[in-house]
Amino acid sequence: MVGSVGVGAAAPVVIQSMTNTDTADVFATAMQVAQLARAGSELVRITVNTREAAAAVPKIRERLAQLNVDVPLIGDFHFNGHKLLAEHPECAEALAKLRINPGNVGKGAKRDEQFAQLIAVASKFGKPVRIGVNWGSLDQALLARVMDENARRAEPKDAAGIMREAMVTSALESAAQAEELGLPGNQIVLSCKVSGVQDLIAIYRDLAARCEYPLHLGLTEAGMGSKGIVASTAALSVLLQEGIGDTIRVSLTPEPGGDRTREVIVAQEILQTMGMRAFTPLVAACPGCGRTTSTVFQELAQDIQNHVRECMPAWRLARTGVENMTLAVMGCVVNGPGESKHANIGISLPGTGEDPVAPVYVDGERVVTLRGDRIAAEFRQIVDDYVQRTYPQRH
Ligand code: SF4
Repeated sequence: MVGSVGVGAAAPVVIQSMTNTDTADVFATAMQVAQLARAGSELVRITVNTREAAAAVPKIRERLAQLNVDVPLIGDFHFNGHKLLAEHPECAEALAKLRINPGNVGKGAKRDEQFAQLIAVASKFGKPVRIGVNWGSLDQALLARVMDENARRAEPKDAAGIMREAMVTSALESAAQAEELGLPGNQIVLSCKVSGVQDLIAIYRDLAARCEYPLHLGLTEAGMGSKGIVASTAALSVLLQEGIGDTIRVSLTPEPGGDRTREVIVAQEILQTMGMRAFTPLVAACPGCGRTTSTVFQELAQDIQNHVRECMPAWRLARTGVENMTLAVMGCVVNGPGESKHANIGISLPGTGEDPVAPVYVDGERVVTLRGDRIAAEFRQIVDDYVQRTYPQRH
């Protein structure tokens, strides 16, 4: 049974990710889907670009079932989706959703025909469709039309304005066309991805004002490392704060050999720091300054964040509400006790020149003072004990 995640106005914002394995490689793709799902991805998109990839999709689904992973799979189709789905109906059946890009469904007269074939498959198998416009593959005929219309305006838009208008128009016209072809409106999701933060915000505000379809948000080609994280966070937070967005993806370029699940964790952290959903206890830590001349508190902050992430899968299954726990690891007496008291559990480590003791606060009360070289292990134990006695057991 393929799992499903509600998308729409009343549902929580859902996290999506995408594999970067060759979909034709059933084993590698199923393993990566499982990793992404276990990290917290609630929808996973896989590219379906060749006959081999299309044939692999049901096998990936089967392999995932063996791994006890029921995360919904979205098939990403470009150029040849109509052919692949006609030749491999079992691929459509195994997918929870189809993503089609109106910019590369086909050119000229073939465009409408091939678009209709894709919608017919979605309708036949009862699959929702994401109409995903991307500025790197914008429908060139539509762009030319929008430019012509713009040139006739009394106050023509600039190049960025034309691009934004063309993207929104492409999404809305394709959605209207899909509905005319018989796909129910509640089976349609829209996205319009660009790589510029201000462009993304402007486009989605426009899109949200002009339609009722659920929207998938993401900054495309966000980039590597902190650049990708910051750009995605900046763009997504503005829109999420305005109530725009039903599913999100953080498109990070992994470093060579890097972990693909990073994009899932960043997406969770965006939603959690925005106060929209809670996934795992977050550790507040001070940045350190000249009052902390050792790395002890940095190591403790990292140690406890890693401990919480490792324990969370088991805690989530066994305990209710543990994801809302807050922890603080602070570097000295200036803000240490105060910040620690605001957390469920906080520790204030000694700064340079302070007594080598670390008071621990639980729910605002100082409960114990740690010292010596077992502070990390003892603090972890305090956290574990707190989880056991505070969060009710699931039945
Ligand atoms: S709590 Fe202390 S160590 Fe941390 S930043 Fe503030 S003054 Fe510096």
